[in-house]
Amino acid sequence: MDHPADDFAYTPLMRRRILIVFPLLILVLAAAGRVLAQSNPEWTEPFPPFHIAGNLYYVGSKGLANYLVTTPQGNILINSDMEANVPLIEASVEKLGFKFKDTKILLISHAHWDHDAASATIKERTGAAYMVMDADVPVVESGGKTDFAYGNDATTLYRPTKVDRVLHDGDEVRLGGTVLVAHLTPGHSKGCTTWTMQVTEHGKTYNVVILGSPNVNPGYKLIGNAAYPQIAEDYERMWRVLRSLPCDIFLGAHGSYFGLEEKYPRLKEGGAIPFVDPDGYKRYIAQKEQDFRTELARQKLAAQ
Ligand SMILES: [Zn+2]
Repeated sequence: MDHPADDFAYTPLMRRRILIVFPLLILVLAAAGRVLAQSNPEWTEPFPPFHIAGNLYYVGSKGLANYLVTTPQGNILINSDMEANVPLIEASVEKLGFKFKDTKILLISHAHWDHDAASATIKERTGAAYMVMDADVPVVESGGKTDFAYGNDATTLYRPTKVDRVLHDGDEVRLGGTVLVAHLTPGHSKGCTTWTMQVTEHGKTYNVVILGSPNVNPGYKLIGNAAYPQIAEDYERMWRVLRSLPCDIFLGAHGSYFGLEEKYPRLKEGGAIPFVDPDGYKRYIAQKEQDFRTELARQKLAAQ
């Protein structure tokens, strides 16, 4: 579009209109920005549920990952997502031939609304025990209000949810012969949790890593953050932990971390399990660590 500035006759009436319209426009854009921050259409877009390996299944949407771990004593669900996702998760569980009501334990990747906002609803629907990493417990139990980054953003808040068991780094969650280990990988949230377990498929045992989140979100202050003074040290701790974990099957809180949409179609070909990707895991965390170091250097320079 050409710029019409040359013909533009600027009158006092137009000035008055601009003075009225412009602040309104800013309000509208700010509201749209908040909605974008809170939700992404892919988060509530259905995705076919499928068997990953052993007793581990994918029951998430296109944009938000949920995992079902089945055992003879009931099932474990990882992540509750947002209220709108609950019918999708339930339908996925039942489509695979399991009962949503058999969910005995509910876990999360970290205390952000896209992974934990519907926890109260899922607890009510299933009676599951809610187990959360210590440093994320105040956030979950305040419905997001005590989150260091998003606590003042009303669009990210949700129903406060009672935690039934407080987890600490290295704790095990056991059910029906299956063991999941909670690794504290903090930074993205104070109690961000990476889950590991072993699964056996065709007589072979695989180490599974379900990454909590390695991301430095837009607006995260890595330096001089009064609400989270040790944030940079916590990210450093996370890189050490993630590098130390043995990983065959690479999964995470969002399908985008591990290439869900690229790997899923390969399931139909049979053959090797497409989610077995130890090199992809190493590459991904190396790239994310590099992104963190770039952002940390940028903030250090800006603070001088
Ligand atoms: Zn998050």
